[in-house]
Amino acid sequence: GQVDHTCDVVVLGAGPGGYSAAFRSADLGMNVVLVERYPTLGGVCLNVGCIPSKALLHTAQVLEEAQHMGDHGIAFAQPKIDLDKLRAHKEGVVGKLTGGLAGMAKGRKVKVVQGVGSFVGANHLEVVATDGSKQVVQFNKAIIAAGSQPVHLPFIPEDPRIVDSTGALELPFIPKRMLIIGGGIIGLEMATVYSALGARLDVVEMLDGLMQGADRDLVKVWQKRNAPRFDNILMKTKTVGVEATKKGILVTFEGEQAPKEPQLYDMVLVSVGRTPNGKKIGADKAGVAVTDRGFIPVDKQMRTNVSNIFAIGDVVGQPMLAHKAVHEAHVAAEAAADEKAYFDARVIPSVAYTHPEVAWVGLTEDQAKDQGIKVGKAVFPWAASGRAIANNADDGFTKLLFDEETKRIVGGGIVGMNAGDLIGEVCLAVEMGADAVDIGKTIHPHPTLCESVGMAAEVYKGVCT
Ligand code: FAD
Repeated sequence: GQVDHTCDVVVLGAGPGGYSAAFRSADLGMNVVLVERYPTLGGVCLNVGCIPSKALLHTAQVLEEAQHMGDHGIAFAQPKIDLDKLRAHKEGVVGKLTGGLAGMAKGRKVKVVQGVGSFVGANHLEVVATDGSKQVVQFNKAIIAAGSQPVHLPFIPEDPRIVDSTGALELPFIPKRMLIIGGGIIGLEMATVYSALGARLDVVEMLDGLMQGADRDLVKVWQKRNAPRFDNILMKTKTVGVEATKKGILVTFEGEQAPKEPQLYDMVLVSVGRTPNGKKIGADKAGVAVTDRGFIPVDKQMRTNVSNIFAIGDVVGQPMLAHKAVHEAHVAAEAAADEKAYFDARVIPSVAYTHPEVAWVGLTEDQAKDQGIKVGKAVFPWAASGRAIANNADDGFTKLLFDEETKRIVGGGIVGMNAGDLIGEVCLAVEMGADAVDIGKTIHPHPTLCESVGMAAEVYKGVCT
């Protein structure tokens, strides 16, 4: 049959998983083809995920901090928002990164083939371009990195005022009244942006708390600071009807905190989770198993049930995070090069880049309780941190959890400014098997927020005194 490209490794999808796998494979001396349906590399993360959201969250933070400068004796005029310019700024940030990736692919002689790829056998992938033309890639090994996409609720109509995360990041307009369906990280990050731009918010969540997965003590601090943004925080409630009317989007609720009357919104963000793309790549033609939900099961080498085909990133399972995808990509590329690489990370951190940020890693207090694991807790409140007070961030805190038997750190959580950056040290400590003395006796720079990690360890049962 037709063969247009022959390679050692084909990578399907150019998100953080895919481009990392392609680059590592090339660095290991393999001849690589990278298949991507969109014209830019970077996948969800760079184009419509991590990066554009953080660009907008930065703008939101500066806006809000400026508003509080009155207390410092600095008064600014009312901000003027130029959405076109803000959008262009965000696109510029994304463009720098996706352009950088294209250069890195070229530098490594990774051949990028644009089009929708699907397997036609265990060694062949067909790629269909937008003009309908077909190319066939013959490969020795394949790494599937097809990612995920937003879940759509069947009863929600198509309307420009109803958006998913991708639509929200396009900043179509600034709504007066906005509903966030789903109180997870992605929904709350976008809520933060739109609130800073002037929207009043409602959030509706089926479960009994926002930011599921994080310990409640962390979320409580976030919620206290963020309460003024919201008119309604509806827990244990769901949307059962959404109607697009001339006046706005009319939403009906059901559940414990459901408003009796349908509510009218200018914009509705649906952020109820993401679904993997495993069922859309002809996996069966290659004999690759896919679960009912569309995930591709893999072993510790990221190998599927077919020995020359690997899978990584969102398409293999939770947590759907870019840093997990990148780590798995390196394992898969090395295993494909016949190195003895295995996924052996102890922990994967989670971060909500809200204001304040909420970050956690490893065992949480809730999980320890559920699993009957005895942990010792050490908390350092930022009210005792000079830097936090200077930064107007003294409501944050740093919490470390230690295994009572081994004395080693097993997890931690931080809420406050830059918590996402600070949690990195806790990740390293867990991977290194550090105990409270190791962390507490490490000299941290003063005055910083990262000191709070050392301080928490120091106060743990007085082990450092
Ligand atoms: P993806 O990034 O989804 O990439 C898959 C690629 O494959 C896509 O480019 C797609 O076009 C391509 N593709 C799929 N099927 C085919 C096909 N058949 N043919 C050709 N190409 C195909 N994670 C974090 O860690 N930190 C964050 O701050 C963060 N923020 C986020 C904010 C938002 C709004 C969203 C939506 C997500 C966020 N995430 C964040 C999650 C992160 O984006 C994903 O975990 C990450 O992108 C997954 O990488 P991946 O390589 O598995 O897949």
